[in-house]
Amino acid sequence: MFGFSDKGNLNLITRALDAVSCKMEVIPDPTTVHFHLPNNLSVQVHKEYDMFISELVDHFPHEKEGIHQFYNECWKVFNSLNSLELKSLEEPIYLFGQFLKKPIECLTLAYYFPQNAGDIARKFIKDPQLLSFIDAECFIVSTVNALRTPMINASMVLCDRHFGGINYPVGGIGGIAKSLANGLVDKGSKILYKANVNNIVIEDGIAVGVRLTDGREFFGKTVISNATRWDTFGKLLKVDDLPEEEKNFQKIYMKAPSFLSIHLGVKAEVLPPSTDCHHFILEDDWLRLEIPYGSIFLSIPTVLDPSLAPEGHHIFHIFTTSYIEDWQGLARKEYEQKKEHVADKIITRLENKLFPGLKESIVLKEVGTPKTHRRFLARGSGTYGPIPRNIPKGLLGMPFNTTAIKALYCVGDSCFPGQGVIAVAFSGVMCAHRVAADLGLEKRAPLLDAALLRLLRFLRTIA
Ligand SMILES: Cc1cc2nc3c(=O)[nH]c(=O)nc-3n(C[C@H](O)[C@H](O)[C@H](O)COP(=O)(O)OP(=O)(O)OC[C@H]3O[C@@H](n4cnc5c(N)ncnc54)[C@H](O)[C@@H]3O)c2cc1C
Repeated sequence: MFGFSDKGNLNLITRALDAVSCKMEVIPDPTTVHFHLPNNLSVQVHKEYDMFISELVDHFPHEKEGIHQFYNECWKVFNSLNSLELKSLEEPIYLFGQFLKKPIECLTLAYYFPQNAGDIARKFIKDPQLLSFIDAECFIVSTVNALRTPMINASMVLCDRHFGGINYPVGGIGGIAKSLANGLVDKGSKILYKANVNNIVIEDGIAVGVRLTDGREFFGKTVISNATRWDTFGKLLKVDDLPEEEKNFQKIYMKAPSFLSIHLGVKAEVLPPSTDCHHFILEDDWLRLEIPYGSIFLSIPTVLDPSLAPEGHHIFHIFTTSYIEDWQGLARKEYEQKKEHVADKIITRLENKLFPGLKESIVLKEVGTPKTHRRFLARGSGTYGPIPRNIPKGLLGMPFNTTAIKALYCVGDSCFPGQGVIAVAFSGVMCAHRVAADLGLEKRAPLLDAALLRLLRFLRTIA
């Protein structure tokens, strides 16, 4: 899990917990991910940056310079981002204030903002296999290749894993939500569970509240939707015409696939000694990277925190990209059979590649499909979030938090800067700041506000 470190400005989980007087015990992960790639290319992404780079250089000695140059570019972006106080980029007083304090860093970020990691990589690297490795590095963040992954998003992840590192919260990641919820309640907030919003109430063009599926209504000065933008504007808002802003968003971005998820309980003997926690497997054909079921993600959290499973056992969370269309229109029995069949194929691949005897060692198995993701996460098509339809201009087309509807804000992975826990935490911080300014809790300059919002809207239309 990113965001748990105690340094820099991108440790947003530590900061969010701190804001509600909470702290969680974490276990540092020495290896972010162990890649198992075509042509038996096996790369461990060590927390220690120099170890990772020297392992990569060992595989591609002829590209030593290019490797250093590409990752150095990522560090330029990361260091700039990490040096700024992160707040709303839609708020001009903050934006200009940061520019005056850190002009070089702001200009660096502005330069990379419309660029993608794949183009930068191609400036320095020629080896097709190494470029494919960079694709895999980006794919595990964005579910698209490097040419379609904004440089800002790639740099955040490719550097923070070495700077702040990956830390696993003791007891499992569910503890983050529980700690935050407890902290918020202690500070006087009220949280409603099983409260399914059916629609957002609009009066005179202003968002004034929400109506739940059980008929209850709640009103407030602002409404912030954490549903995806597709769900917010397609399901929760009953508007005759989709605002131009949202039409533009949907023109540039489409829904990423969802996942087929398999949770296994396995006997500990099946793990070779020194197995890493996170793995990414693409067996023998780079072209299969982005196709459904083409690659396999695997996390074994019990490697870091054995208390999560009964003694002598491990947890495998296996997932692979899958579209909901593949699971629709099936009778119950066919659906269950298909789940078994597809899961069996994935488990066989893992058995062949990494864990001989895996099938025999399984003591518990649960399979979830994109329909499961849709149902339990309330996300249209169970999507992982937005992916660009074509080659994007970096992050230029990504909307921030304000919307065309007054007093309605969006937050989460279909807002800048996109998917991933640290990115959505950033989106939350930005949104909180913009809302606070609009409510008069922070300084604001209405004329500058309007001008900046117009400029940002214009830039998105040319993305
Ligand atoms: C299998 C998998 C593995 C991942 N691994 C990682 C990882 O290792 N590291 C990482 O950084 N990221 C990872 N991610 C990505 C990360 O989980 C997401 O990017 C992030 O959770 C998105 O946050 P969000 O707030 O935008 O949306 P969500 O997490 O989907 O939260 C939206 C919330 O809104 C609620 N909601 C929606 N509609 C309604 C409604 N109508 N009424 C009431 N409530 C509603 C939902 O119930 C949900 O609680 C992973 C994602 C998946 C699916």
